[in-house]
Amino acid sequence: RENLLEVKNLKTYYPVKGGFLRRTVGNVKAVDDISFDIKAGETLGLVGESGCGKSTTGRTIIRLLKATGGQVLFEGKDITKLRGKSLQSIRQDIQMVFQDPYASLNPMQMVGDIVSEPILNYKSVNKNDLKNEVMDLLNRVGLPEDAYYKYAHEFSGGQRQRIGIARALALRPKLIIADEPVSALDVSVQSQVLNLLKELQDEFDLTFLFIAHDLSVVKHMSDRIGVMYLGSMAEIADRSSIYSEPLHPYTKALISAIPMPDPRRKSKRIVLQGDVPSPLNPPSGCPFHPRCPEARPECSAVKPALKEVKPGHQVACHLY
Ligand code: SF4
Ligand code: MG
Repeated sequence: RENLLEVKNLKTYYPVKGGFLRRTVGNVKAVDDISFDIKAGETLGLVGESGCGKSTTGRTIIRLLKATGGQVLFEGKDITKLRGKSLQSIRQDIQMVFQDPYASLNPMQMVGDIVSEPILNYKSVNKNDLKNEVMDLLNRVGLPEDAYYKYAHEFSGGQRQRIGIARALALRPKLIIADEPVSALDVSVQSQVLNLLKELQDEFDLTFLFIAHDLSVVKHMSDRIGVMYLGSMAEIADRSSIYSEPLHPYTKALISAIPMPDPRRKSKRIVLQGDVPSPLNPPSGCPFHPRCPEARPECSAVKPALKEVKPGHQVACHLY
């Protein structure tokens, strides 16, 4: 399969203002030189604690944020600098499902209008076709028939996320960036929404960048998984390698924190010391070194590059 998306050395920095003149006094390196690919039809899970840059990565790809450096190749074309018409066409191919369906949908807007909006913005269709298409989408994501004429606030969190998914599908995108699409939902409805996304992936030939804050949610969704820490990519591998032979000490700690039903499991939980450092003042060398149980002297001096240590398994760590 071919790469649909190639992210190369992507950087997204935010200026930090200070003093009474609100001058820029520094940069938060929210995403600091990360690279990864996603093949057509694949799901790449992107995992890390809050503030690690995973949402910023998704928002930079979809152009809600401006890249500070690097490239985002979509079907081979760098989309970080597109403007006007060519940007419009990319906006149809890449859609986003947001974390909080309460915040991302206008509660006073009619569901039919919410889902029609992207189509009206990008295509010319007649009223009847549009209505039929939106009805089909609502039906396909499992909403009741009369949903079209109701308001977003009349629905539960899980149903609102279905509305958000219908809206994301409306333009028949190729890539969907799902930013923690179930973390605001009750545990009882999370798996229903995840299953829906999987079904839709097959039916609509979708490729997913699936963002999550822990490894348990992405387990059932991802073909490959990337683990981010403080703006950097720590490790990328296929799903089974990440769970059965994690290499990066941070990934090992995340794996050890997943509750396991098997009491015979041998590995102990690795409890990390300290908090994630501020991205405003990141550590020297390996960003993980202040918390790493395996850190050695060179770790605080030299930042390890992400390199392939086994076929398809990349890690950024001096141990390898
Ligand atoms: Fe730990 Fe050093 Fe590897 Fe960083 S480079 S993860 S500090 S061992
Ligand atoms: Mg986030």
